[in-house]
Amino acid sequence: MSTDNHSRTERDIRIALLSMEIGIDHEMPTYGGGLGILAGDILRSCADVGVPIVAVTLAINKGSASQKLDDEGNQIELPADWRIDDFTTLMAPRVSVPVEDREVKIQAWEYLMTGIGGYQVPVYFLDTNLFENSASDREITYYLYGGDERYRLLQEIVLGIGGVRMLDALGYTNIRKYHLNEGHSALVALELIKKVKEDNPEYNDEQILESVRKKCIFTTHTPVQAGHDRFPEQLAKSLLRGFGNGEIDEICHEDGLNMTLLALKYSEYINGVAKKHGEVSRNMFPGYPIDSITNGVHHVFWTTESFCKLYDKYISGWRKDPFDLRYVISIPKKEIVQAHAEAKRLLIDLVNARHGTGMDYDTFTIGFARRVTGYKRPDLLFSNPDRLVDIVKNTGPIQVILAGKAHPKDTGGKELIKNIFVNIKRLKDDIKIVFLENYDMELAKFIIPGVDVWLNTPKRPLEASGTSGMKACLNGVPSLSILDGWWLEGCIEGVTGWAIGSIAAEPSDDSKDAEDLYDKLEQVVLPMFYDNKDAWARIMRYAIAFNSSFFNSHRMVQQYLLNAYFA
Ligand SMILES: *Cc1c(COP(=O)(O)O)cnc(C)c1O
Repeated sequence: MSTDNHSRTERDIRIALLSMEIGIDHEMPTYGGGLGILAGDILRSCADVGVPIVAVTLAINKGSASQKLDDEGNQIELPADWRIDDFTTLMAPRVSVPVEDREVKIQAWEYLMTGIGGYQVPVYFLDTNLFENSASDREITYYLYGGDERYRLLQEIVLGIGGVRMLDALGYTNIRKYHLNEGHSALVALELIKKVKEDNPEYNDEQILESVRKKCIFTTHTPVQAGHDRFPEQLAKSLLRGFGNGEIDEICHEDGLNMTLLALKYSEYINGVAKKHGEVSRNMFPGYPIDSITNGVHHVFWTTESFCKLYDKYISGWRKDPFDLRYVISIPKKEIVQAHAEAKRLLIDLVNARHGTGMDYDTFTIGFARRVTGYKRPDLLFSNPDRLVDIVKNTGPIQVILAGKAHPKDTGGKELIKNIFVNIKRLKDDIKIVFLENYDMELAKFIIPGVDVWLNTPKRPLEASGTSGMKACLNGVPSLSILDGWWLEGCIEGVTGWAIGSIAAEPSDDSKDAEDLYDKLEQVVLPMFYDNKDAWARIMRYAIAFNSSFFNSHRMVQQYLLNAYFA
């Protein structure tokens, strides 16, 4: 890979990553959750390794909502207050995209992500908040996943079509592959069809399709149906009427404009984000050659200070080469336990300062934090409160730290938070439980390393991958999780953590999964934590050595390089 930077005018061959959200920094609220943070980790690794990539996303001028919770757990959403020009530089070129009968103008802000050796990856934030645009067009890039389906399609027009045009205008005329991170950016294909036709008027449909396919890579991120955007044909035809009807007919299907089908049709390489998710996606979309590349997380970004110091002491090359984390196997257990104790102290102090809960450093602490939505079942742990209290009385004390935002429109998710609050009150004499407000990247960096076990309870087979458990193992925190997504690959029972239930049972049954969770806690996890500290420390060490050396974004990016970017 190239390791030097190129001047502004002489743009090298690039991979272009297009993503509705990118999580760069918690002070830049342009991400909602896993999808955006993963895009951020891909870019962090590309910057470290010197992969010639450029990324495009939306400016999200008003930021993704921050979360407040009242005493009953009602979620209150506040606009995030941020200014894009505090972090980025405005670029000179402007482009426009045809919408209905007008042109929507777009400008771009540049953020340079700097890698460990100084290589810089540019990220462009597309912005329609320009005086030249009408008041409503100026708002197209205001909110992440906000508004109705018309608003959403407008955003995807700006991202997909505007993204290709802006890269061109910025001088990236040599894009090797467009990586569509989820179907949101699939309109890239529409713009490429137009370009291919203009450049090669003699091409037949087959040749056009093949030319576009050679340029596109598509990563699908969820088996949840609602996660796949579909727009009514009338809406698509109306907004996109600046393109010929022939083009629109080519991308519409009987169920309208289906962004996933569009991306599938026009991409040469397609992947799910874990082995199992590849399999599930092949069943959802028969006939498409769907491969899988299992997600990873950026090893330095997600490792807490005390573990960074420990790895620096024993494994000098780990920052450059996370495969070296395999050699954590020879770090004395005592020092791993100490590094964890430091992270736990920071978290418990933060929780007690905010909530006055009186949590302590020695009690077994369960962590659970992710976007709150039905299939993730954040309340599974509380499905039988009496059983949980029995476990505590018979086996040892437990404290629980939770966090997570519900999507503003996800009323089911909001109900889940309220139900958790009911259980917090119900259990308060026996188990200390807190739900921390406003889960974001910064809070994740406190919660995940600071707990003793990382709980994940998705409904099988709906967890595409999951990444927070990977952040946990980097910090010596083993997972206790349903066997789905990445955990099917990462779980070595009693070695890197524990499974809830078995692989066979599918789809999930809530009460059976809850029983399995309680049994594993009562019979295996808690007794080991309280009675066999040495065995516990060995699991912490194996979790890092076996899992962090693999489930990192450097390995993931290498697999994209081998299978997709430069295949
Ligand atoms: C890592 C992370 C996520 C994604 O976690 P999953 O386990 O994939 O659900 C979401 N939000 C934040 C703030 C994160 O740090």
